[in-house]
Amino acid sequence: MRREIDINEISDGKLYTANDLVKVVCNDCKGCSKCCTGMGESIILDPYDVYRLCSGLNTTFEVLLASYLELNVVDGTILPNLKMNKETNACSFLNNEGRCSVHSIRPGICRMFPLGRIYDEESFKYFIQVYECPSKNIGKVKVKKWLDTPDLIKYEKYINDWHRLLKRIEEKIYSMELDEQKKINMAILNVFFINKYDYEKDFYAQFYERINTVKKELK
Ligand code: SF4
Ligand code: SF4
Repeated sequence: MRREIDINEISDGKLYTANDLVKVVCNDCKGCSKCCTGMGESIILDPYDVYRLCSGLNTTFEVLLASYLELNVVDGTILPNLKMNKETNACSFLNNEGRCSVHSIRPGICRMFPLGRIYDEESFKYFIQVYECPSKNIGKVKVKKWLDTPDLIKYEKYINDWHRLLKRIEEKIYSMELDEQKKINMAILNVFFINKYDYEKDFYAQFYERINTVKKELK
């Protein structure tokens, strides 16, 4: 989700890359699940998040959508986000012990927290949301270790390319007729989320094949 923010109001004013040390380590979140509760529609998933969840839980996007996810419009594009439980207002993956039941396959936004990303014309950097995590014993770690994501160079390139595609759609979609808007949104949902990936094969190769088909539609 694109947000218009003054970075100095929510961060320490610094920008970080994957090799930088950041002060985010929060004592294993003992007794806390604040960032899994009351998050509304803000934990938006990208195609790799859905690939990772479907593959790890041996399920499909449609099954996840029935219980754990919901769809919402984000800057003109329909995208999935983690659904908060109506009774507890917590993420549907949070277990009774207040821990994440899908920790090893949790989405990218959860892996990053309390880091965020800020994009420029070419790429992005990380920043710390200094008021989001209440833990008092915060230690330092390298961003790349904190993200706990294999093939980080490929992942960061993919995140940037996904962001560029969504930005390009946003720039075009509001000038389109309603049926064209629906067509693009259905294509995004089908191509990147509903059409099953081959979990035996590399995600990124499959993503780039798919992005090319959508880019053709956008011309
Ligand atoms: S808010 Fe901080 S301490 Fe609490 S669960 Fe999230 S990362 Fe852990
Ligand atoms: S997926 Fe896990 S870490 Fe992310 S919000 Fe849900 S319970 Fe928390």
